[in-house]
Amino acid sequence: MWGVKMIRVNKSYLPSIEEYTVYLKKIWESGWLTNNGLLVQELEQKLKDYLEVPFIQYVSNGTIALQLALKTLNITKEVITTPFSYVATTTSILWENCKPVFVDINDKNFCIDADKIQDSITENTEAILATHVFGYPCDVEKIERIARKYGLKVIYDAAHAFGTRINKQSILNFGDISTLSFHATKLFHTVEGGALITNSGELNDTISLMKSFGYKEDEYYYVGINGKNSEFHAAMGLSIFPKIKDFISQRKKLSETYDICLSGIGLQFPEKQTEVEYNYSYYPVIFQTEKQMLTIKNSLAQQGIDSRRYFYPSLNQLPYLSGARCLVSENISRRILCLPLYYELSNDEVIRISNVIKRTILISAGPIPRSLLRQ
Ligand SMILES: *Cc1c(COP(=O)(O)O)cnc(C)c1O
Repeated sequence: MWGVKMIRVNKSYLPSIEEYTVYLKKIWESGWLTNNGLLVQELEQKLKDYLEVPFIQYVSNGTIALQLALKTLNITKEVITTPFSYVATTTSILWENCKPVFVDINDKNFCIDADKIQDSITENTEAILATHVFGYPCDVEKIERIARKYGLKVIYDAAHAFGTRINKQSILNFGDISTLSFHATKLFHTVEGGALITNSGELNDTISLMKSFGYKEDEYYYVGINGKNSEFHAAMGLSIFPKIKDFISQRKKLSETYDICLSGIGLQFPEKQTEVEYNYSYYPVIFQTEKQMLTIKNSLAQQGIDSRRYFYPSLNQLPYLSGARCLVSENISRRILCLPLYYELSNDEVIRISNVIKRTILISAGPIPRSLLRQ
């Protein structure tokens, strides 16, 4: 590409080196590099206040957060889960030697279809692990009712739902445990990182031990693991932290531009609910067919614009699984594309991306019928 700026699908925000250095100096002063250091404690406190949650455990990534959640809740058998998520949602279940049981998604916001969960419950079902896809909340109330009725634990993979609120409260307050990812590609990041959120002080204490080899002060309580994160990662989080509100408002603005530019050309978007405050973490578009989606992905690439098939494939179709069919998820997976969305993207770039999409759809629709042309 000559003269045209390449547009990536995502771009990690970096603070200025000076902002990061403020925190590095603190590490040099304390000499404390990891093991629940001062910056980790400060980050946990700030996140707790910002997210309005009672407990948070900062860990090394979002995948270990999922595994710690399953382990802490002592899940060993069947886990009802969504086929429409990042692969880590499924692999964490498999890694803990549990069995993922896929329940299809709804076609409104692509989260697990709560009305289909009961049919998949067996005597071996112990938990539900569902994802708030693209930050759109699962039907948390219905899931809670089912979980209560059948005595199941609920874990939410909230890797996309940082800052999402429903009826004026954090979406992270639902379920037994919610997990976050602070990977470099996420709305808020610490390069690598993640967290577990729970309303239970007891569970929080267990997670705290579990992420640190299962022992404390010469007492060995559990078979733990090393899920701790370092002062250097916390330093990145702390230096980015003041920007969170800007990240969300800029993404909201860009999403609204996409909404306007891409309306009226037969595309589908996840449905919003009035009681939800969204975080605008992604901009997913469902095209009419897989062919149309691929044509557009290709047109965008020719203009130096990245887009991502996210999520594809539907997780029940992973090569190492022989899961049941999940027709809605498979269908959406084949047609979905996430468009570029990040803090430093400009409104003009969103318009440019949208124009490529509109032009491609018009061209591939074929010549305009004679009857519609002016004589
Ligand atoms: C990113 C992500 C994860 C994994 O988080 P990591 O920090 O990369 O390990 C899990 N689930 C979902 C839905 C994600 O988007």
